[in-house]
Parts: sequence; structure tokens; C-alpha cells
Amino acid sequence: MKIIMLGAPGAGKGTQAKQIASKYNIPHISTGDIFRANIKNGTELGKKAKEYMDQGALVPDELTCDLVMDRIQEADCKNGFVLDGFPRTIPQAEALTNALSKIGEKMEYAIDVDVPDENIVNRMGGRRACVNCGATYHLVSIPPKKEGICDTCGSELILRDDDKPETVQKRLTVYHEQTQPLIDYYKGQGILHTVDGTVPMEEVFANIVSLLG
Ligand code: AMP
Repeated sequence: MKIIMLGAPGAGKGTQAKQIASKYNIPHISTGDIFRANIKNGTELGKKAKEYMDQGALVPDELTCDLVMDRIQEADCKNGFVLDGFPRTIPQAEALTNALSKIGEKMEYAIDVDVPDENIVNRMGGRRACVNCGATYHLVSIPPKKEGICDTCGSELILRDDDKPETVQKRLTVYHEQTQPLIDYYKGQGILHTVDGTVPMEEVFANIVSLLG
């Protein structure tokens, strides 16, 4: 099962992607998480990516594509994977299509988690992320058991720089300009499914499961 999650930043695609990965026993591949891990470990890639991420801009395709192409060829991806935050541009989508077609494969589902911009801005202000393991929470919809502390590893929860209101606005603009065209791209491939992302997240998940079968 090869799945792409589409949707604006803050639409909840990461939360859904993690649940899909666990239910279908396939890896969850989040380019945002990979970049954040690189930033934390002080790698060259992390240093370069941070400059773009802190401004709400996209990391250039040449730093992003090879990383994902290598990852999806690892052994744990043989039964499929769920991509979260990739592709984000048409060139990235084309790179993915081409890499898969070389090995006689293709993506099977592109799931667009649809949420209007006005809901997104409100949601992102409530988002909190663990400084250590990257687990994400929401003050209202997914609160940690203990305020300000990660359930998984006990580290501190923070509002990510790229979730701050001014950066969110920029990320939404970038989303509409560069990522939204992917909806038509995958519609053209006949694999697009749209789910309403404004309903409670258990319902969003149930709707996704029913379309995955
Ligand atoms: P996310 O956690 O998916 O919201 O990603 C956080 C940030 O990482 C984005 O705002 C971008 O700066 C960067 N990023 C993640 N995935 C990509 C991608 N596929 N292409 C370019 N930049 C990305």
C-alpha cells in the first residue's frame, strides 16, 4: 500500500499518517521529521534545511528528493509506505513518479485532508511538539497527559518556530502556490481521494480506512 498524504500544514495529515502506518504496518515517512532530526543532530543537511524551515519556506527540491528516493528503497518499504509532507511541489511529484516507474511501481492513493485556511491558523497556535522525539500534541484536541511534557519520552513540549502565527501565514501561501497543484496532478493519475479534515480526527481516520479498504 503506497500512500501520499496531501493537505495544508496543520490539516492533521501527520496524525492520520501515523495511524495509517500503525494499522497497515507500513513505515511513516515524514520529510519534516527527517529534517528536524538532522537539525537536532547538527548535520550539514540540517543546517541548510533550517534556514528555509524557520522562514516557512520549502527546502529546495535537490535537498529533498534524493533523501526520499533512498528512503523508499529501504527493506521496510517493500510492502508500501505512507508519505507525509512529500511531495510538496510538482517537480518532487514527478521525481517520485519517475523513480517508482523505473522499478515498475506507482503510488496507489493520494489522500487530501481538506481543511479551510481559517481553521488552520487557529489549530496551529495550539500545536506543541516534543523537543526531543518530535511527537506532536494539541492543547485542545490531543493534550499531553501532563501539561508541557511529552507522554512518550518525558521531554519538554514547545511551539515550533514554524508553527508561530507569522510563519503559518507564510506556509499557507507557499502551500497554495506550490503544493495545491498536486491535487490536480494526482486527480490526473486517478488516485486522488478527498476527506473532510474538519470533523473529529477519529472520524477522519475511519473515513480514510474505509477508502483504503
Ligand atoms: P512539516 O513537518 O511536514 O510541516 O514540514 C516542516 C517544514 O519542513 C516545511 O515547512 C518545509 O520547510 C520543510 N519540508 C518538509 N517537507 C518538505 C518537502 N517535501 N519539500 C520541501 N520542504 C519540506
